Amino acid sequence: MKKTIACCGINCDSCDARIATLTNDNELREKTAATWKAQFGADITPEMINCTGCREEGVKFAHCSECEIRKCADAKGFKTCASCDMLDTCDTVKNLHQYLPEALTNLKNLN
Ligand code: SF4
Ligand code: SF4
Repeated sequence: MKKTIACCGINCDSCDARIATLTNDNELREKTAATWKAQFGADITPEMINCTGCREEGVKFAHCSECEIRKCADAKGFKTCASCDMLDTCDTVKNLHQYLPEALTNLKNLN
């Protein structure tokens, strides 16, 4: 299974935080922090933009390391929510997938 598909289905490969981390690109960290700050209304600084991916070894972006979906999948012993028979009914993932339907598609494609 592709490790860069996060528990929730986001493709970490195309995440600017991961790209900025792997390439140590401070300009991309600044741009990503500004974009996410505007998008999510959260106080996100360039210093916070460090992440190797949800299921990869290494540093995690704070909001992803505290993610309820990730915690829940971990607690159930799943690599991703694709293994869960509640995928189509779970409100926790539904909250995310209503904004990021491609994440649900990525999970479905894992099965
Ligand atoms: S876990 Fe990291 S790489 Fe994946 S979406 Fe979250 S911030 Fe991006
Ligand atoms: S209950 Fe929801 S968040 Fe938890 S593993 Fe299943 S689909 Fe994912």
